[in-house]
Amino acid sequence: MNKKRISLIAPFYNESGNVTEFFRRVAAIADSLSAYDIEVVAVNDGSRDNTWAELLEARARYSWVHLVDLSRNFGKEAALTAGLDRAQGDAVVPIDADLQHPPELLTEMLAQWEQGAEVVLARRTDRETDGRLQKFSATSFYRLHNLISHVEVPMDVGDFRLMDRRVVEALRRLPENHRFMKGLFAWVGFRTVTIPYVNAKRHAGTSSFNFWRLWNLAMEGITSFSTAPLKIWTYIGMAVSALALLYAGTTVIGTMIHGVDVPGYASLMAGGMFLGGVQLIGIGVLGEYVGRIYHEVKRRPVYLVREEYQPDNRPASAPSAAHERETA
Ligand code: UDP
Ligand code: MG
Repeated sequence: MNKKRISLIAPFYNESGNVTEFFRRVAAIADSLSAYDIEVVAVNDGSRDNTWAELLEARARYSWVHLVDLSRNFGKEAALTAGLDRAQGDAVVPIDADLQHPPELLTEMLAQWEQGAEVVLARRTDRETDGRLQKFSATSFYRLHNLISHVEVPMDVGDFRLMDRRVVEALRRLPENHRFMKGLFAWVGFRTVTIPYVNAKRHAGTSSFNFWRLWNLAMEGITSFSTAPLKIWTYIGMAVSALALLYAGTTVIGTMIHGVDVPGYASLMAGGMFLGGVQLIGIGVLGEYVGRIYHEVKRRPVYLVREEYQPDNRPASAPSAAHERETA
């Protein structure tokens, strides 16, 4: 009987110091899950440190490692897409390479999958350890996103999840270049269960998501899944016009009763500057969307591959890469 295959997808960006430990932990769990055939698709996302050399060593040691080397740093979302295009498992699990996502949770994920779940979400139960500001910004983002988007991104749930092959095929059919994974994951739906886990501390190194990157990711998430920021300007415009009419009315009546009131510099300035600001924000929001349309219509590939090594135990074949489109 053929064993079911499980693919782990791990993106590596400057993770030297975590590679050895990551594969040691995964190998241990793979041994204990001997009823399954486990492979790891490790995507090197343009690391500038020793990560790639260490990944090659890991591949020499473990026969189930599939290595992909991207031509530069394309970002985690693109690295995950490269992994999803290559994973051959009946179930696929994206997992961080810094060991913040405990590989041991795989046992429980597989149990839920065997019971019929098509998506097994791992939900963090340790937000308490985050800083106040971090917690506040994360909560605000999810609130705002879910308020104005059609798909609900569950709170405290990251990319760490098990997905059935059906879900992976659905994800691969989504054609967009801008890939806000959390949103795409939520968009495809499917029968979902959630299990709790405790997010560990980074094994080594530091996080590559600073405030600016997180802000951009948040903008990406909102503009990818909602047009509310575009539409709201109609209503802001109507409200401002109504107020202006009201103000005009009172001024006209006031002038008829009390005569012309010449001073008015302050209210003119305040009104003019306020409206100028509001209009600039509106144009800025338009710009966010137009910029995204511009990037999207170019149809550039999501990532480019420099080198690739299939697992030893599989005959080499050209990978079917939906997102590596031909560029003319
Ligand atoms: N990562 C990546 N490309 C990037 C940034 C990060 O592939 O441009 C990987 C990184 O190697 C790690 C995962 O994405 O495996 C999560 O990154 P990180 O730990 O820096 O983020 P955090 O855990 O702080 O959200
Ligand atoms: Mg991390």
